[in-house]
Amino acid sequence: MPPSRFEDWLKLDAAGLCCAPGGFHVDPVRPVERAIVTHGHSDHARPGHGAVLATPETIAIVKARLGPEAAGSFQALRYGEPIALGGVMVRLVPAGHILGSAQVVIEHKGQRAVISGDYKRRPDPTAVPFELVVCDLFVTEATFGLPVFRHEPDAREIGRLLASLAAFAERTHLVGAYGLGKTQRLIALLRTAGYDKPIWLHGALAGMCELYAQLGVDLGRLALVSDASTKLPGEIVLCPPSALQDRWTRRLTDPVTAFASGWMRVRARARQRGVELPLVISDHCDWPELVATIAQTGAEEVWVTHGREDALVHQIGLMGKRGRALALVGFEEEGE
Ligand SMILES: [Zn+2]
Ligand SMILES: [Zn+2]
Repeated sequence: MPPSRFEDWLKLDAAGLCCAPGGFHVDPVRPVERAIVTHGHSDHARPGHGAVLATPETIAIVKARLGPEAAGSFQALRYGEPIALGGVMVRLVPAGHILGSAQVVIEHKGQRAVISGDYKRRPDPTAVPFELVVCDLFVTEATFGLPVFRHEPDAREIGRLLASLAAFAERTHLVGAYGLGKTQRLIALLRTAGYDKPIWLHGALAGMCELYAQLGVDLGRLALVSDASTKLPGEIVLCPPSALQDRWTRRLTDPVTAFASGWMRVRARARQRGVELPLVISDHCDWPELVATIAQTGAEEVWVTHGREDALVHQIGLMGKRGRALALVGFEEEGE
């Protein structure tokens, strides 16, 4: 295949995707002079960069997780605000993945590239909806880049949790959820479904929920399991996935174990973790949403990053576009 015509201004180096005329990397996996960070998840936002450009919400999240000294300096850029960096124009637009998450739009010599970061298309009360940007080059994630991945409607999954709570009214319902994004979305979806009782939290989830509330995301009444005076029969408790099976659960009443994740589509994963009530709720696109988004961008060339790259690259070829697997190292399977 001949080299891509975008390679003279956007290419891979040891730190990740680099825009040389702009003098920055996007979500670099090792320390660089200047980084644009799409969102606060740990495989995208890493410590040690000279300067970080991100949305104000992402900066608040990064400082909370990694400390105020995580970068030499931080510069906030609101959604839609253009900024000139070196020889390119940059703006951040909503990615719909978690609070503050952004796609990076780069314009150079009449061409436009969009780097999606992680994204989803479904409504999420805790994140500004994904904004579609028509472009020449689209760099997409592929976390769920296999045709088998189809996420259920969120309301249906929340309905299953509430139905279980009604059926087993004496048992605690313990839901494992990733601490940044999924936890807050799950709470917001429960509120949307009309659940207005306090939602109980493992201590490890409390700080980020507080930060979301400070940033204007209403999560209703939350309480700490460590403050409970009972073993929480009939209550909903959220904990990090790692705490689902540990001793800590002894302070709950015969818990029904649930786990909210796109990976719960894979029954073997639910069994492995001893999950009785797998909830297929994801902050990433499923396969049909990935394919539809790629088509809608109109991009002639699509680069595929962290996830199941090969199947999606094949699909992109079938769509008459030029596809390329970036095979970036350093992106772990998201705790999603
Ligand atoms: Zn993410
Ligand atoms: Zn990711």
